[in-house]
Amino acid sequence: MKKIGIIFAMQEELIETKSELKIIKKHKKYNLEIFECSYNDNICYLVESGIGKVNAARTTQILISEFSVDEILNVGVAGSVSKEINRCDIVVADKLVQHDFDITAFNHEKGYIPNIGKYIDCDKKLLTKAKKINKDIKIGTIASGDIFVSDEIMARKVNFKFDALCVEMEGAAIAEVCYLCKVPFLVLRSISDSPYEKNNNIAFDEYLKESSMIISNFLLELLNNI
Ligand code: SAH
Repeated sequence: MKKIGIIFAMQEELIETKSELKIIKKHKKYNLEIFECSYNDNICYLVESGIGKVNAARTTQILISEFSVDEILNVGVAGSVSKEINRCDIVVADKLVQHDFDITAFNHEKGYIPNIGKYIDCDKKLLTKAKKINKDIKIGTIASGDIFVSDEIMARKVNFKFDALCVEMEGAAIAEVCYLCKVPFLVLRSISDSPYEKNNNIAFDEYLKESSMIISNFLLELLNNI
């Protein structure tokens, strides 16, 4: 039996998975509601972290320190910054980077974090399992930052500098905490929007439910194979 922490940034993302699992216990830690569910032989802890890297990081630490989770999955939506990635595609990260981390004034590369590095790799075993489920998923770098990217120039920069497939606001923070605590993790996203299209904030709202459903279904398949 494994304990799996599953982090969603938003209620709209969480709800799709929560409605499919049987909740056996509700926990409250500070402002966080953590739903304990049993699924196959494993225990899952579902939680809405809130948006952004700080919310994501402290939620990850709480799941690790107070719930002793063995693995963490981050599930949600993202904006495509690659011409090859379309709406509703599933993107699974092989590595993550914080595109807004900047100490270039000291001759470091953009995204480089002292004692950590630039990219953080996802767990290879979890990634292999994800690949087996669906051969059409796109695998590559996901870039996170505390900004909803809606500017085409920024999107192009992030794509070019980090070879990123998509952008979101939590994955790399979860990766950093997991790396520091030596907890295996995987980041799974479905594309809701792209900064290359006009008004992607409107597209985001329009496709949030559909892409949340897509990634939740993929998560459930993954949980069947973990
Ligand atoms: N509508 C929300 C804000 C959503 S922020 C509100 O008003 O409170 C966007 C969320 O979706 C983040 O959790 C992020 O991880 C993801 N996301 C989707 N598209 C994104 C994009 N283009 N840029 C950055 N994050 C994006």
